[in-house]
Amino acid sequence: MSQILNEVLDANRQYADSFDKADLPMPPGRQFAILTCMDARLDPAKYAGLAEGDAHVIRNAGGRASDDAIRSLVISYKLLGTREWFVIHHTDCGMETFTSEIMSDLLSSSLKTASVDADGWHDCCEGNGSAEGQHIAWLTIKNLEQSVRDDVERIKSHPLVPGDIPVYGYIYDVKSGKLIEVSETAKKSGCC
Ligand SMILES: [Zn+2]
Repeated sequence: MSQILNEVLDANRQYADSFDKADLPMPPGRQFAILTCMDARLDPAKYAGLAEGDAHVIRNAGGRASDDAIRSLVISYKLLGTREWFVIHHTDCGMETFTSEIMSDLLSSSLKTASVDADGWHDCCEGNGSAEGQHIAWLTIKNLEQSVRDDVERIKSHPLVPGDIPVYGYIYDVKSGKLIEVSETAKKSGCC
């Protein structure tokens, strides 16, 4: 058995041994949702003070407002009663390190894990790639503040999202653990 599989199942046995959350209702008790990146350094339960049953956490690469993230948010509001949403991207996000073109090029040469250095991304091996990557919107990030603004705007202006839901835009700083607010409009000059 894989070591990771063993570790996860062991951890789960310990969690279940003292489990006392059986009576939580399905709707999030604190009526809010967070859309954030899948980055392993981010733990929304810790950085936002969540316990089981408190809030919805929707995660994907970048914490982007993809169609699927919006699907989850709409369900979160329409069927499960959340009333406030957060979009939280973060510093040093991997999504800033490539473009859709780089990703589809890498995938068309090989499916194996690529490596990165000062010159950018490189494939380890040629062969057995697929051109399918060209058909996926990878939702990479060029400018962190702008990506938060774009996603807040996309969510707020979506026809399935009621206009009165506050959508807060923040950047989580992986060096300090702090959430930094992103203002709604870009600074006029000298910025980014
Ligand atoms: Zn990230």
